[in-house]
Amino acid sequence: MVETRLIDGKAFAERMRLRLADEVAAFVTDTGVTPGLAVVLVGEDPASAVYVRNKGRQTVEAGMNSIEHKLPATATQADVLALVRQLNDDPAVHGILVQLPLPVPIDAQAVLATIDPAKDVDGFHVVNVGRLSVGLDALVPCTPLGCVMLLKDALGSLAGLEAVVVGRSNIVGKPLAQLLLREDCTVTIAHSRTRDLPDVCRRADILIGAVGRPEMIRGDWIKPGATVIDVGINRVEKAGGGTRLVGDVAFDEAQGIAGRITPVPGGVGPMTIACLLQNTLTAARRQVAAGG
Ligand code: NDP
Repeated sequence: MVETRLIDGKAFAERMRLRLADEVAAFVTDTGVTPGLAVVLVGEDPASAVYVRNKGRQTVEAGMNSIEHKLPATATQADVLALVRQLNDDPAVHGILVQLPLPVPIDAQAVLATIDPAKDVDGFHVVNVGRLSVGLDALVPCTPLGCVMLLKDALGSLAGLEAVVVGRSNIVGKPLAQLLLREDCTVTIAHSRTRDLPDVCRRADILIGAVGRPEMIRGDWIKPGATVIDVGINRVEKAGGGTRLVGDVAFDEAQGIAGRITPVPGGVGPMTIACLLQNTLTAARRQVAAGG
């Protein structure tokens, strides 16, 4: 029986935000420029509204400017593209984030492609995706970046470890696989068509769940002592009424098998906004250095 230790993403993210606030203050003193993050919210999706509010609050707490643009659900693609172009041209804006998902008629890829790659703090523009994949400096998607920070904090060097990423989305699975490759892991990306998924997972020294299916990854899929990072956020009904959040990993079953595991909530989730703030400061530094 392995002793399972929690990876406390909430505490790590808090420390990171404090450090970032110091770095932002020093940057403002040195350059006279306050980094600005513009967040675009289209429509009335309640979960998106909560995310945007939290991002705005934490941006301001870190000493940066938060600029929120809310467009109605009836906004057209042309409206969204015009706003993004205006933000691209605004020197007070160093980072642009368009909250996904966008209402159905709007083509998210076209919107992402319009964001200036230098201001693309979500790291979803193909230029940043390409730069990451060929090993150049890039703005890297926030959730995968947060996962790798937690892994390096827990394990030190990741070189040579077998990593299995379950999920291949452009937002989490694929960029996470690229980052793990950059850390010299041996990476497998699994997905809905993978055969013998439990067996594939059992190979992993590092097992990542990024699927969006409550507790799909069972305890006996985990190699004893493996480090488990649970990206999934799933709301499920509680037995006595109400709801609770669970991850993609059966957390209780993983106890005594995994060496380390992130809880849901309080694991990967808080890292996402902390990494967004870090990306905004990075983008501001590069734009100021480039004379922008
Ligand atoms: P997507 O729905 O875009 O991707 C899910 C992936 O899981 C797909 O690649 C899909 O495979 C794969 N999958 C689905 N079912 C299975 C299955 N039965 N077996 C194996 N693979 C399967 O989700 P996201 O990547 O956007 O998000 C994943 C989870 O992470 C969600 O719970 C989301 O809420 C959470 N999340 C958390 C964040 C945070 O801040 N902590 C940020 C972003 C996401 P295929 O490609 O074959 O369809």
